[in-house]
Amino acid sequence: MADDTVLTARELYRFYRAGEEETLALRGVSLRVGRGETLAVVGPSGSGKSTLLACLAGLDEPSGGEVRVNGVRISHRPETERARLRARHIGVLLQTRNLLPHMSVRDNIRLAQRAAAGKPAVSAQELLGQVDLAERAHALPRQLSGGELARAGLAVALANSPEVLLADEPTGELDGETEQVILTLLRDRAAQGCAVLIVTHSAEAVRVADRVIRLADGRTDSAPTTSDRQEARDATG
Ligand code: ADP
Repeated sequence: MADDTVLTARELYRFYRAGEEETLALRGVSLRVGRGETLAVVGPSGSGKSTLLACLAGLDEPSGGEVRVNGVRISHRPETERARLRARHIGVLLQTRNLLPHMSVRDNIRLAQRAAAGKPAVSAQELLGQVDLAERAHALPRQLSGGELARAGLAVALANSPEVLLADEPTGELDGETEQVILTLLRDRAAQGCAVLIVTHSAEAVRVADRVIRLADGRTDSAPTTSDRQEARDATG
């Protein structure tokens, strides 16, 4: 199992200071996601989920602890190095925020590929085919439907065939049918060996995950599955 671990977070702490006020957003969070595994992270609003995702993606720096991808430390490095490592190894899906509005879907994918500064393993057009958007390559984000936007965002996150895919509420704004499409695409990615982590409130996303961890007040309570799933179902009705 240890050899299969792709993403590791060890004892992550994150403090925010605003004047006199200090918030402990993360208080020693550790987790691992293996090759081909889908992990769901659940927890109430304010429990630290977004902070955790940002630290895992190298978009934010933990105050303590470390993040590794395939054994390579991504935390505690200059921003430019973190950006380079992220571009090469980590796909980040941030709801609809993955797309630049003035660029076509295909150019958005190509931009993400340029950030990795190597020859992409998959062409933009091929990626668009994988998310069933081949016909919409030249469309601007505002010309897409909600479901198409979600798939386009996913294509951008997958632009560099990442070993890790981090998704922040990937189905939060979608109808049931589109949610299924996105979850199936995420599961397909895991089946191809990607380590997938989904921050979610969706009972359906929790259902398809292999494992669930719960955040509460910046700490994990990784007791898991059946009761978490029931609770998520109750919470989302
Ligand atoms: P979640 O994603 O689970 O809603 P967050 O990670 O957004 O939780 O927030 C965790 C805690 O950290 C909250 O108490 C929040 O108010 C605080 N927090 C998040 N970002 C900042 C920030 N930039 N400055 C100060 N406090 C923050």
